[in-house]
Amino acid sequence: PRPIEELEGAIASTAQSRAKITTGNAVVFWFKRDLRIRDNKGLSLAGKKAREAGIPLLCVFVVSPQDYQAHLTSPARVDFELRTLAILKRDLAELDVPLVVETIVKRKKVPEYLTGLCEELGARHLFCNIEYEVDELRRETLLTKRCLEKDIDFSAVHDDVVVAPGRLKTGTGNQYAVYSPWFRSWIRHVHENPELLDEWETPGKNPPSARDKYEHLFDNHIPPAPENKKLGDEEKERFAHLWPAGEHEAMGRLSKFLNEKIGRYQAGRNFPASNSTALISVHHSAGTLAARMSVREARNVNNTKKLDGGNPGIAGWISEIAWRDFYKHVLAHWPYVCMNKPFKYEYTSIEWEYNDDHFDKWRNGQTGFPIVDAAMRQLNHMAYMHNRCRMIVASFLAKDLLLDWRLGEKYFMEHLIDGDFASNNGGWGFSASTGVDPQPYFRIFNPLLQSEKFDADGEYIRKWVPELRDVKGKAIHDPYGRGEGKLAAKNGYPKPVVDHKICRERALARYKAGIGRD
Ligand code: FAD
Repeated sequence: PRPIEELEGAIASTAQSRAKITTGNAVVFWFKRDLRIRDNKGLSLAGKKAREAGIPLLCVFVVSPQDYQAHLTSPARVDFELRTLAILKRDLAELDVPLVVETIVKRKKVPEYLTGLCEELGARHLFCNIEYEVDELRRETLLTKRCLEKDIDFSAVHDDVVVAPGRLKTGTGNQYAVYSPWFRSWIRHVHENPELLDEWETPGKNPPSARDKYEHLFDNHIPPAPENKKLGDEEKERFAHLWPAGEHEAMGRLSKFLNEKIGRYQAGRNFPASNSTALISVHHSAGTLAARMSVREARNVNNTKKLDGGNPGIAGWISEIAWRDFYKHVLAHWPYVCMNKPFKYEYTSIEWEYNDDHFDKWRNGQTGFPIVDAAMRQLNHMAYMHNRCRMIVASFLAKDLLLDWRLGEKYFMEHLIDGDFASNNGGWGFSASTGVDPQPYFRIFNPLLQSEKFDADGEYIRKWVPELRDVKGKAIHDPYGRGEGKLAAKNGYPKPVVDHKICRERALARYKAGIGRD
């Protein structure tokens, strides 16, 4: 069985025994990558349970340095989570609900810590939302069993996605491996089950006695970032300014986008200088905003209840959020994708280049391909990159430099503030042609054409590559090939590190040989 089936099986098989568990003195909700109070299914259910039993709701978040390490979480993201926790703690305190933030160094110890905390608090009910990475699913299966031994009723529910993994099947009862039919099925499923978009109730205030009784829990502090995930002062300030934390910020961004930009989304979304996208991925990824809420609110500003109708900008935006669900479904069904394996087995034998110098130039934005360099510098500065540019740099790494796509996948996770295993793995697999429903391997982006098409005036390049700011007209896309080499060289901008035409042929040959196709 897959880890997700093991977890769902463990929850189902323990249901009877759990039903006999007594009320206890409190209900505990365990926050993970769902750092919000509003429209949080697990939290809402925990709050309801507490209210009905007339006992307090207590919350916990576990800082796990080993998890950060295993998931290659970027320091920018760790910082974002810690800033969000401070806001969450303050907001929960207004409901007289404490949030305990505890560092547990070894992640294997997390189930033991949680059951220990429940015992210490006399809590007999523990709630959380499900995460779909293998280790997380296995941990929750373990926790289900451990809780039962300790007479604790553990509920783990689907909240991170609009449609839970495993619900959409092809005509032959299989998991979809192609986005378009999957998306049609996703749309149909949500139309048939509109309650999937309903907002979950926010928990009410705790009984007044909770303040005194759990005073020590309110006093608990947010720990600093683990040593190897710490940001320098300048970076800390920069990211706090670029990416303010917390669910209020997320809601503000969402309404601003829906009021001002969504109508133009479909026309502008591929142009990195146009500022046409929502810049909201960090909030979906850290859970400061529910994907469900984004879809619902977008639908509510449309002139139809149909998710794939009405304004093309709105329908287009909803379909992008659906990609997020798609990749989570893929991860839950084919968990080996998070074990460093390509989705398609035959893509394991492609012979990659090993060239540290090329990788360094790629990651530092020094390849001599202005659009690639602009994008990598955006990533290094903002911990974020525009989607079109993510595809361009990923294709460039895998097909022009012929470096293993997993190096790029890892670099992205280590630097993105919105790093999300399923979306990142899916995006890299798409661009490198090794993933689920990918670009065909013989479709190789020409960085020059991409640049001319999506950054025609060179505005994005000029913003991120100051060495080329004075280059006029179309030469911005290829200064050395279009008569502006002297200016580029004077300003220290490098020559192209490879020749795209030669690389294209090399990639075609290697991919063909690797996957055994003539
Ligand atoms: P918008 O265009 O406003 O889209 C709205 C939301 O839809 C996003 O916030 C995001 O949650 C979701 N979304 C949009 N496009 C995609 C997509 N292609 N796949 C999955 N979800 C999508 N997204 C991440 O959240 N984390 C990652 O680690 C990540 N890595 C990527 C790596 C590569 C190589 C590629 C090609 C794409 C990756 N993406 C990732 C998807 C996408 O680039 C970002 O979600 C998007 O750029 C975020 O900007 P936005 O919030 O303005 O998006």
